[in-house]
Amino acid sequence: MGRAITLVESVHPEHTERAQELLTRLLPHATASHRVGITGVPGVGKSTFIDELGTRLTSAGSRVAVLAVDPTSTRTGGSILGDKTRMARLGVDPNAFIRPSPTAGTLGGVSRRTRETATVVEAAGYDTVLIETVGVGQSETVVAEMVDFFLVLMLPGAGDELQGIKKGVLELADLIAVNKADGDNATAARHAAADYSAAMRLLQPASPTWTPRVLLCSGLHATGIDELWQTVTEHRAAMTATGELDDKRTEQRVRWMWATVEDRIATNLRNDRATSNMITELETAVRRNLTPATAAADQLVAAFQSGAR
Ligand code: GDP
Repeated sequence: MGRAITLVESVHPEHTERAQELLTRLLPHATASHRVGITGVPGVGKSTFIDELGTRLTSAGSRVAVLAVDPTSTRTGGSILGDKTRMARLGVDPNAFIRPSPTAGTLGGVSRRTRETATVVEAAGYDTVLIETVGVGQSETVVAEMVDFFLVLMLPGAGDELQGIKKGVLELADLIAVNKADGDNATAARHAAADYSAAMRLLQPASPTWTPRVLLCSGLHATGIDELWQTVTEHRAAMTATGELDDKRTEQRVRWMWATVEDRIATNLRNDRATSNMITELETAVRRNLTPATAAADQLVAAFQSGAR
């Protein structure tokens, strides 16, 4: 499995074909897992929480994979997520697998590889895949697009602004868990939960079947974790019964195909001999407002297409 993941994570063009062939062969075996996205700012307690939740799941007979989409690693080359040392028990659990975020490339590239790694671990029999991310840039949207359920961890007693949480993330959430609801934080956590419940009521639920919920938990003191997972399984049962889960996955795959097409075409265009020497010139013209952006785009695409022919 490690070698398969190394292959699908590889950015070398000569590995792409073998990776695609492998993935195609794995696909029929990679259907049954439960994919859950988990996000929250650094310090919200993600690793403590995942360590606790994952250990409970493996004790109950699950095989748990933890993957990461770490937008910061694309810039710094250093991954802060999916680090085994952050999850002391899960890191040595034979029924758990932890994979750090790939460290190079664009967010699109990192998330592509995470998605494909998910296929590999699913085919290897991991029935629960937890995909961790931090609330930076588009990473939450990217992760929400590859999971069945999206969990947002919040800190107690800090307003949205303080937590750097964008309003958009509330719209992605199937569940908000106010973490660290323990000790001196307990009251603040209850207030925060009430605030988030009020905020969530103003949003139009994304699904007719599921109304997003808010609850309290503590990864450190292991409270509220069972109730939280109960909510995740309830969501799965409800969405399966109505057929929405299948539809959601199908739509995600199709959107992913198009996102990949756009990504590949843009990359090819940038690297194309016919267009690459026009790029600087057209960018300059657009910067100086001498050419409309759309006109410049049309010229590039036209040059690329005639080159391709
Ligand atoms: P991450 O950056 O989101 O992965 O957060 P960590 O899991 O590394 O936790 C950050 C800090 O918060 C650490 O010092 C943890 O011990 C502490 N912490 C994590 N979970 C809890 C919790 O449920 N309650 C309290 N009081 N502290 C916690």
